[in-house]
Amino acid sequence: MTTPLKVAVIGAGIVGTSTALWLKRDGHDVTVFDRVEPGDPNQTSYGNAGLLARSSVIPVPTPGLVKAVPKMLFGADGPLFMKWRYLPKLLPWLVPFLRGANEADVRRTASALSEILGDAVDQHAAIAQGTDAARYITKGSYTFLYKDRAYFEKEALSFSIRAEHGFTWDEMDRDALLEVDPNLGPSYTFGAAVHDHGWITNPGAYTAALFDAYRALGGAFEKTEVDDIGGGEGSTRVTAGGQTHSFDRLVLASGAWSRKLAERLGHRVALETERGYHIMLRNPSVRPPCPYMIGDAKFGLTPMAEGVRAAGLVEFGGLTAAASTKPLDLFRRTLRRVYPGIEWEGEDTWMGHRPSTTDSLPLIGESTRAKGIFFAFGAQHIGLTSGPKTGRLVADMIGGRRPNIDLAPFATDRFDRLSDA
Ligand SMILES: Cc1cc2nc3c(=O)[nH]c(=O)nc-3n(C[C@H](O)[C@H](O)[C@H](O)COP(=O)(O)OP(=O)(O)OC[C@H]3O[C@@H](n4cnc5c(N)ncnc54)[C@H](O)[C@@H]3O)c2cc1C
Repeated sequence: MTTPLKVAVIGAGIVGTSTALWLKRDGHDVTVFDRVEPGDPNQTSYGNAGLLARSSVIPVPTPGLVKAVPKMLFGADGPLFMKWRYLPKLLPWLVPFLRGANEADVRRTASALSEILGDAVDQHAAIAQGTDAARYITKGSYTFLYKDRAYFEKEALSFSIRAEHGFTWDEMDRDALLEVDPNLGPSYTFGAAVHDHGWITNPGAYTAALFDAYRALGGAFEKTEVDDIGGGEGSTRVTAGGQTHSFDRLVLASGAWSRKLAERLGHRVALETERGYHIMLRNPSVRPPCPYMIGDAKFGLTPMAEGVRAAGLVEFGGLTAAASTKPLDLFRRTLRRVYPGIEWEGEDTWMGHRPSTTDSLPLIGESTRAKGIFFAFGAQHIGLTSGPKTGRLVADMIGGRRPNIDLAPFATDRFDRLSDA
């Protein structure tokens, strides 16, 4: 039996909501702080591709990335975008990020990520069990679509590392692809359908439903901007709206906005926003049978409750710059290549902020500088997938239960150590 504690959670995205729900199930007295309602479009957890991408253990920087960047940025259908005025601010993050594009680092990152992603579909089922959120979870394959086998073979290292971590897939030629998706355009002749995945058919509503379950257990919510945090064990504090509140424990789960608050504790955190986009097609004439990763354009295409969502791409430009239109044009062009005859009745567009670290790993665990304060942010492209497990790990730590995975790769002070060196 866990001793009940008074706990604050800052952030009500999928990570904060999952943490709060597991803490509440453990019997703690929990208050969540967020400036927006759970499920709001301002949360990254609202607009993602919905993939429970348990095999996405491969980080974005892989061998060959540095050479490929010019084409990705300037090529006709390049999936990378940049707000150039932001480049000077980005460089201190970008240089170590790109330095990770080597096989040894990819293998190290994949091993760490597999610990928090491997059982993700079960983790989602467990957190959603008995709540309205369960109806948004669908299980199935996750298919990488390629123009041809040669494209797939360019990713041989990534797939061989996936295999080493126990992931399996079916290779599909054009006939096999057409059998399950007769509308697929002629540009795509090869696929890899990775087994035992899942997806969320409405990510915003899913987070909101999990939050409703937390509220139903008596969890409190303060809709406010948090200006400051601090303290140590037994006396952590949250300052919001000119008032300071005291808690026994505090969890920082503020996604891409976490750096400023973490730095108030004296930590250095190499966190940037990898901005991403989505376009939601309402009433499309065609739906994919399962989520696709469009190999050449680097975005996901997911059948959802409200339509079909194309989501992904990467833009660097910071937290405050306005959304761009070019990524949306790329979605539209590529969609017509995937499904040449596709029509849709309307669309919603969105831009959000992936919380990304230079080593592509989240920070999970207790602050070394402020005892009693726990970090749970930085899960870049896979934060929806890893959210419930992250929440459970943090609830375990707060409850005095030792997690049975090696948390060293997620250490909260690993960027401090780099800057001290
Ligand atoms: C286009 C795109 C596609 C993606 N696709 C996938 C996918 O298919 N699968 C997957 O696993 N991941 C995907 N991701 C990544 C995933 O969405 C994120 O990693 C995840 O949503 C992060 O969750 P979070 O709870 O950390 O952050 P958020 O959902 O952003 O929540 C953070 C919350 O903190 C609040 N907050 C921040 N600062 C303060 C403050 N000072 N005071 C009060 N409140 C504050 C914010 O208001 C916000 O509600 C995708 C991301 C993008 C952009």
